[in-house]
Amino acid sequence: MPRHNKQIKHIKAIFINNCQTKRQYSTERQAREVADYQMLINNDLELSVYKCDSCNKWHLTRRSIDNI
Ligand SMILES: [Zn+2]
Repeated sequence: MPRHNKQIKHIKAIFINNCQTKRQYSTERQAREVADYQMLINNDLELSVYKCDSCNKWHLTRRSIDNI
């Protein structure tokens, strides 16, 4: 069964937007630790972590309290 890695890579590349300018974390735990620390030193900050489809790593994103 032939593999279609090339095609998949090409499709993924299209969806890379600003993710390369964001900080990447290899694991969810690592991302959460950083998020917790950032929220600890900045009470106004609400961060959540998400797995990125583009780079398969974890990013932090700002979460507005109003949007919850
Ligand atoms: Zn990413």
